[in-house]
Amino acid sequence: MCEVIKCFKCNQEGSRRDLKRIKKQWICRNCESTMRKEHREFLKRKVLGIRTRKQQVAEWKEKRENKLLLPKIKSIKPKKKTSALGLYITRDEKDVIYKTLIKNGLDSKTAKKRIKNLCNKMKELKEQIGIKIKDETELNKEFKRQFEELVKCQQ
Ligand SMILES: [Zn+2]
Repeated sequence: MCEVIKCFKCNQEGSRRDLKRIKKQWICRNCESTMRKEHREFLKRKVLGIRTRKQQVAEWKEKRENKLLLPKIKSIKPKKKTSALGLYITRDEKDVIYKTLIKNGLDSKTAKKRIKNLCNKMKELKEQIGIKIKDETELNKEFKRQFEELVKCQQ
């Protein structure tokens, strides 16, 4: 004889073979997969803080609108902001330089030392161009350009 049991979510009836027991409650396959999906979403959005594309677009829009509302007063820009621009050598960039240096015949110790020097130089450079150029996009462009120059000199 087959015992009839019900899904605790949607009340669908079934046998032990159709339903699954989770935390002392029976659940059907449909509800189980929905719950899993919801839980994955919960982990992604609430725990890991990954935003959906829709949320991102909404945020960008809001940012743009805020930007339009705020009058641009360049002289009041806090100087600290320069460091938040991401003007630094990324890991990937370091890897590329490292490989290039090794290919050019340097041993790994010297190559690492050169990269360290390069990073220090970039710090100085950042401060120098940060004084002259106030526009963030321009600053980034100029930084990348000068960075390339430096890399060329290192080789
Ligand atoms: Zn169900």
